[in-house]
Amino acid sequence: MIQLIDSHCHIDGPEYDEDRNEVIARARDSGVTRMLNVGTGDPRSGVFERAVELAEKHDHIYCAIGVYPHDAKLFDDDADQRLIDLAKQSTRVVAWGEIGLDYHYDHSPREIQRDVFRWQLRIARELNLPVVVHSREADSDTISILRDELNDYDRGGVMHCFGGSLEMARSAIDLGLFISFAGNLTFKKGDDLRDVARQLPLDRLLIETDCAYLTPVPFRGRRNEPARVVETAKCLANLHSKDPDEVARITSENFMTLFRPRVALH
Ligand SMILES: [Zn+2]
Repeated sequence: MIQLIDSHCHIDGPEYDEDRNEVIARARDSGVTRMLNVGTGDPRSGVFERAVELAEKHDHIYCAIGVYPHDAKLFDDDADQRLIDLAKQSTRVVAWGEIGLDYHYDHSPREIQRDVFRWQLRIARELNLPVVVHSREADSDTISILRDELNDYDRGGVMHCFGGSLEMARSAIDLGLFISFAGNLTFKKGDDLRDVARQLPLDRLLIETDCAYLTPVPFRGRRNEPARVVETAKCLANLHSKDPDEVARITSENFMTLFRPRVALH
């Protein structure tokens, strides 16, 4: 059976409160050997503690914590300290994120987004954690901040749910980052993105669901879940004229190279 990794999901949220264990079991049954759950939301609401708790409960689930661009205006010394403490206390925290810039929604003022992004990149560096980067309609600012802050940083990170240009992807790879594709790679209107994915080297790529959003074809219109990551693997395999198994294997190796999870699976 195919074995693959969902490198970015959000299964700690209320969308899964009714059936989280079934979702996790279905992922296992579909060959998802590991997943990275990303804690996002108001830093004061316990979302980061919740993400760590879920990862502590399951050998094969790791977590990333960090303040999402929408919530940048809520970032303060208290959030900063609690995040650092959690990252230091739990070996389940394997990355800092998702952090970055979102100029599509502008839920936080852009200047604050940029400051908080820079600050968190510096914390990640201090903690020696790779970063999970979210960039929407902000590619040139994202890259220029990453160039400033991640210069010569050997832990790198990932541009998650990539939706940018080939040039953007190549700039990120030059900085030591991986590029991760989500279910939107399979969308009918995804020709431009598929064109980008086709031209990138597989040894710099990851796959993800970013669930509960971005349900891939042919499951559009339903809630997404980690088991569906196989659809993105198949699409990527098709673009590179490879077997889905091979893409699954390569992207899994890339995941392990990037996040270096410290606990072996039982
Ligand atoms: Zn996400």
